[in-house]
Amino acid sequence: MYGKEKTHQHSGSPAKRLKSANWWHTSNGRVVCDLCPRHCALNEGAYGFCFVRQNVDGQLVLNTYGRSTGFCVDPVEKKPLAHFFPGTSVLSFGTAGCNLGCKFCQAWEITKSRKVLRLLSQKATPEMIAEAAVQLGCKSVAFTYNDPVIWAEYAIDTAVACHARGLKTIAVTAGYICAEPRKAFFEVMDAANVDLKGFTEHFYQHLTLSHLEPVLDTLRWIKQESSVWLEITNLIIPGHNDDANELRQMCQWIHDNLGDDVPLHFTAFHPDYRMTGTPRTSPGTLVKAREIAIETGLHYVYVGNVRDPERSSTYCPGCDRRLIERHWHDVKAYEMEQNRCRFCGHEIAGQFADKPGHWGTRRMPVDPASLLRTLESRELDTGAAESSE
Ligand code: SF4
Repeated sequence: MYGKEKTHQHSGSPAKRLKSANWWHTSNGRVVCDLCPRHCALNEGAYGFCFVRQNVDGQLVLNTYGRSTGFCVDPVEKKPLAHFFPGTSVLSFGTAGCNLGCKFCQAWEITKSRKVLRLLSQKATPEMIAEAAVQLGCKSVAFTYNDPVIWAEYAIDTAVACHARGLKTIAVTAGYICAEPRKAFFEVMDAANVDLKGFTEHFYQHLTLSHLEPVLDTLRWIKQESSVWLEITNLIIPGHNDDANELRQMCQWIHDNLGDDVPLHFTAFHPDYRMTGTPRTSPGTLVKAREIAIETGLHYVYVGNVRDPERSSTYCPGCDRRLIERHWHDVKAYEMEQNRCRFCGHEIAGQFADKPGHWGTRRMPVDPASLLRTLESRELDTGAAESSE
């Protein structure tokens, strides 16, 4: 039995609007969520591990539909995506909760604190978000900050609204999702950055409270079965996933299963959440990881969360010349002609425009509802002024 599209009124909280969820069935009087491999089995009133999906009156509902913890315009390089319309701006937003339990979570205030449900103040329908992105001149809308898998219904509706307005869509996710919703979710995404958090089942089980194999399945599926542009992020945590052999195995797996053109971002950990006693990742560790990846045969390998223009830039696999120079998230030199190297004509994997965007490193918080109200009242003022002339 699968959920139908309908909006519930929660009996215990009449003001709270809840969206019927998809991908669930009932078993032994409980609602079983089939969105992610946890398959939470919920008694009446119970919440899933992600705390945003709940059994209400024998049906699964999503309690964060249409509500966000914040919207911000930032550069696509921050997602991070290095081969997807460099330099352009992205309207980014997230909700609350997560289906993983990472002890090193770098955004735990919105993923792990139930109090955050009270902070879901910014209300925005899919159409409002798309309209706001158009008005702000964004190239894309990104589903990020917390994993959009757990609010897939909201992300999918918003992605459809964005496509109707000519916008691109980006998912930033850990890829922990079951096969059926995976298809529905990625069908409406143009690009994804998937976190590959480590390369052992031990790491996934102990530090993320999830499993490695479903994530590898998602990576293979995206690359082999979809048209989504894929990049991968690996957050390197000293003493936990920085072993040279483990990194080599991970890079080899990426090379053999996804190809040598998938960009890989090694990013630096900072102490947070339940791992405040673990040191920051040194720049030297990132440099070493990048060397291993390049030795393995991967063409596009970047370091992140550190200032290292040399290793944040894109080089041509054909002639080794620097094609896209980046300082932090800022695109400086751009030597591409569409998706080819300007020097030797080698085709560069990804999606590129004739010219880069010029958003720079800015980060601009926005509230789509008040933005649209302001624009509307300006239009009314202009209309009144014109009719009185
Ligand atoms: S999406 Fe949430 S409720 Fe559903 S199985 Fe995963 S953690 Fe449980």
